[in-house]
Amino acid sequence: MERDQIIKELMIAGRPFSVEYCDLTPADCLGKAHVAQQRILIEAGLGYHARRATILHEILEVIDSLYELNLDHRVISALESALYQVLQDNELWRDDW
Ligand SMILES: [Zn+2]
Repeated sequence: MERDQIIKELMIAGRPFSVEYCDLTPADCLGKAHVAQQRILIEAGLGYHARRATILHEILEVIDSLYELNLDHRVISALESALYQVLQDNELWRDDW
């Protein structure tokens, strides 16, 4: 899928967040959520599945922050995996994710 067809904005808890693709450092950092700035940064080099999983992960990070859930990072990662599998197995993804 071409870069310009990939999702650029998401609504989370009724707020618009930009989704930007850039080279993140360190190299093992795949995504970052800047909640106050309403920006989600995703490592530009990710493949299709890793990109979807990372966007989902950052959505969960935003929800964790906005609702002050203070979830353990292990819980966020488990929710990411579980939701990813549900979306995948039931073909619930939007085409531009
Ligand atoms: Zn995280």
